[in-house]
Amino acid sequence: MLKAHEGAEVDIIDRLPTPFGLVRSGVAPDHPETKIVINQFSRVAHNERCSFFGNVSLGSSISLSELRQFYHVVVLAYGAESDRALGIPGEDLNGVHSAREFVWWYNGHPDFSNLAPDLKSTDTAIVLGQGNVALDVARILLKPPTELAITDIASHALAALKESSIRKVYLVGRRGPVQAACTAKELREILAIKDLYVNIKETDLLKTSADEEEMKTNRIRRRVFELLSKASSSSASRPSPGQRELHFTFFQKPEKFLESNDQSGHIGGVNFEKTILKGSASSGNQIAAGTGEYEDLECGLVLKSIGYKSVPVDGLPFDHSKGVVPNIRGRVLSSSRFAQPEGGLYVCGWLKRGPTGIIGTNLYDAEETVASISDDIEKRERISTSTKQGREGLLQLLESRKIQVITFSDWEKIDSEEKRRGSLIRKPREKLTTWKDLLEVATR
Ligand code: NAP
Repeated sequence: MLKAHEGAEVDIIDRLPTPFGLVRSGVAPDHPETKIVINQFSRVAHNERCSFFGNVSLGSSISLSELRQFYHVVVLAYGAESDRALGIPGEDLNGVHSAREFVWWYNGHPDFSNLAPDLKSTDTAIVLGQGNVALDVARILLKPPTELAITDIASHALAALKESSIRKVYLVGRRGPVQAACTAKELREILAIKDLYVNIKETDLLKTSADEEEMKTNRIRRRVFELLSKASSSSASRPSPGQRELHFTFFQKPEKFLESNDQSGHIGGVNFEKTILKGSASSGNQIAAGTGEYEDLECGLVLKSIGYKSVPVDGLPFDHSKGVVPNIRGRVLSSSRFAQPEGGLYVCGWLKRGPTGIIGTNLYDAEETVASISDDIEKRERISTSTKQGREGLLQLLESRKIQVITFSDWEKIDSEEKRRGSLIRKPREKLTTWKDLLEVATR
C-alpha cells in the first residue's frame, strides 16, 4: 500500500505487543533463515507513513465497525489463530494438544507459555497429520536439544525438551505416502536428524495406478515419495538401544482417543481405522475410506496437526464451512443473499485463502488485495472519499478505554532486551514469554 499510494498512511494493529505474527510464533526456532523476512517487515514499519499499534485487539479493544468508521480502508490479515478439530471421542483428554498450541509453547507465545506438555511420563508421541507443521513438531521432539540450545526457542521449552523421555514419534497420515502433505526440503531435514532410526512399512509404499497418475502431474508428491522410499530402504531393520525413532504410519484414520489404564484422564493411546484410497487421481483427490479394521497405538502425548482455522470477529462475513472470509480477489463479500463487495473492507493471507502456503505465497496474495484496493480507488468505487479521523480517532478511543498501546519503538525495547538476554547464553535472542514481562519491558 505504501508503495502503490504515495499519499497513503498505514496503521498496523496487532493484538500482541510484538509484531511479525507467524514469523515470530509459527516459524520453527531452527529455521532462522525464514525469519530474515523480519528485516523487510521492520523497514516497512520504519516508513514515516506507517505505524504499529500492538496490544490492541480487534473485537475487544476496538470493534470492526469502529475501525471502519475511522479508516477509508480496513484490511484484515489476522490469519488462522485456531485449529481444526477431529470431533472424535477423547479429544479433550490431558496430553492431547493441537500442534499450534505446542508450536506457540516452544516459540514463547504469551498465551501458551504455560502449556507445560508432559514430555516426561512417556516415551511415545503420536503426531496426527503429515503436513509441514507435523514435521516441525516431530523434528523439535526428536532433535538433540544441544542443537536447539543455540536457537531462539523459548527457555521453558528447551528445559522441558532436555528432560524429555520421548524417544518414539509416530507421524500418522490417513492417506498414503504419495499424498503426504509435507514438502521435500522439510522431509529431507527431518530424515537427516543425527542418529535417528526411521521406519516406513514397505507394504505402505506399494503404489496403485491412481497413485502413479497423481505423481505424474505433481512434482512435489513425486519427490516426497522418492525420499520416503529411499529412507525406507536405507534404514536399519531395527533401532539400536536408546536410539530415537521416527515412524511414518500411513492409511490410518483416528477413530477415538483412549484414556490411560490408570483412568487419570490422561491420554493412553489412539484407536485407528485402517483406510484405503477411493476417488479419482485426475482431480488429485483420492480420499481415505475406512475399511472396518481397527488397531490401537499406545502413547502418552498426542499432537493434532490437521490444519489451522481462522476465527471470525463481530460484524465480519464468514464462511464457516471453509473457515475463510468470503471475498473476490481480497474484496470482502457481504453475507446477504446477493453477496456484494463491502465498502472499504478487504482481506488477505490465511484469512482470505485458508491455512495453506508459505510466507512467499502471502506476499503474492497481499499484492492481489492491494491491486483490488488500487482499482477501487481509481474507479471511485466502494471507498469513501469523505474525511476520516484515521489514527487520531483510533488513539483517542484507545486512550478513553485505557488500552496500553505498544508502538514500534516500544517493540524495539523488547527486541533489544531479548537480544541482550540471548547474547549472555549464546542464543540469538531469549524471548520474553509472558504478557507481564513484554508490557513491562516495552514501557520502561
Ligand atoms: P497441511 O499441509 O494442510 O497438512 C494437514 C495434514 O492434516 C494433512 O496431512 C491432512 O491429510 C491431515 N488431516 C486433515 N484433516 C484430517 C483428519 N480429519 N484426519 C486425519 N488427518 C487429517 O497443514 P499444515 O501442516 O498445518 O501447514 C499449513 C501450511 O503452512 C502448509 O501450506 C505448509 O506447507 C505451511 N508450512 C510450511 C512450513 C515450511 O515451509 N517449513 C512449515 C510449516 C508450515 P489429508 O492430506 O489427507 O487431508
